[in-house]
Amino acid sequence: MDANAPDLKSWRQATQLVRGGLKRSAFAETSEGLFMTSGYIYETAESAERAFKGEEERYIYSRYANPTVAMFEERLALLEGAEVCRATASGMAAVFAALLCQLKAGDRLVASRALFGSCHYIITELLPRYGIETELVDGTDLGQWEAALDRETACVFLETPSNPTLEIIDLAPVAELAHGAGARLVVDNVFATPVLQRPLELGADIVVYSTTKHIDGQGRSLGGAILTNDEDYVEDDLTPVLRHTGPAMSPFNAWLLVKSLETLAMRVERHAVNALDIAQYLSRRGGLASVLYPGLPSHPQHGLASTQMSAGGSVVCFDMTGGRVAAFDFINALRMVDISNNLGDTKSLVTHPATTTHQRLSAEERAQMGIGDGLVRVSVGLEDPQDIKEDLDQALKAAGV
Ligand SMILES: *Cc1c(COP(=O)(O)O)cnc(C)c1O
Repeated sequence: MDANAPDLKSWRQATQLVRGGLKRSAFAETSEGLFMTSGYIYETAESAERAFKGEEERYIYSRYANPTVAMFEERLALLEGAEVCRATASGMAAVFAALLCQLKAGDRLVASRALFGSCHYIITELLPRYGIETELVDGTDLGQWEAALDRETACVFLETPSNPTLEIIDLAPVAELAHGAGARLVVDNVFATPVLQRPLELGADIVVYSTTKHIDGQGRSLGGAILTNDEDYVEDDLTPVLRHTGPAMSPFNAWLLVKSLETLAMRVERHAVNALDIAQYLSRRGGLASVLYPGLPSHPQHGLASTQMSAGGSVVCFDMTGGRVAAFDFINALRMVDISNNLGDTKSLVTHPATTTHQRLSAEERAQMGIGDGLVRVSVGLEDPQDIKEDLDQALKAAGV
């Protein structure tokens, strides 16, 4: 160990985001190197043998580890306050690997009902195929968590704030109930990002991300990450499953993402300032059935959101009384805000969840989740908020609101 090596954990967040995990090569480059290599070479046959026996710590194959991916993982781990981070090729690869690696036939999983569409598919359709019992609860109702976790359970999965209804789940008591049932708590922290919410500090065991959203934040790459302090989980469950099933992140995407982390806190904080501005504007403007944003006092769990998150995030939703027709008229009249199912981008994006991200669900399931035909989701970008408001306003007028 270099005696002059900095203690990365003692650095403040902004410093960790710029410098954490940086490993310079023999070329002494300023910026993080892009190691676009699938494999590594050995000096001797004996060295290769030792590496495969695990006697020599070194890179073996990029399905296992890669220097650029490792820089990204280390930087994100510092931000999250986690010992371990493993990057994956997409957010869904992270969710699936994080769950699958610790579950087996006969196990039980409990999850909140308000889930991202693909998470809903994995939990309600895919896992049951392999003999895993799954149950969905209303995540905002602690009584339902208590009832579902009154017996042996292997895993609890939830999303807070949820997509797209922005429900907030009280992490500390749910973590306690999960642990009481023998379960690990896995939190999908995509909407909050590690800048606004730190689930591990509230009792979660594992945090997953789609880095495609705010962490890239510029609409360029797919990626995911799994973070934890649970050594047994890493050793016995996660590492072997990642190594042998191969959802590895490309070094190129890791290189984009390690540079994105440098500006993550600045971007997420500004997204939240802009989103609050837009949410306040929409509430004042009137004509809408409801405006949903965790940072608004009118949000049913505003109090909880204020203690659990340091700001309300980048997504604002609203319900239009005119249903699908009004929502489509509004969306089609936008001149600047783009129609896209992505979120957390520098560009403001709008989506109609009932016909896109949550189309696969039955009308009854959507109703249970509060996803009506008039619901519109806006991912507020980094443009000047005045321009966003003017675009929303003219489009609402065009839709007769
Ligand atoms: C986008 C998203 C995912 C999936 O991530 P991909 O990178 O698209 O695979 C999972 N959970 C939430 C909450 C998301 O918004």
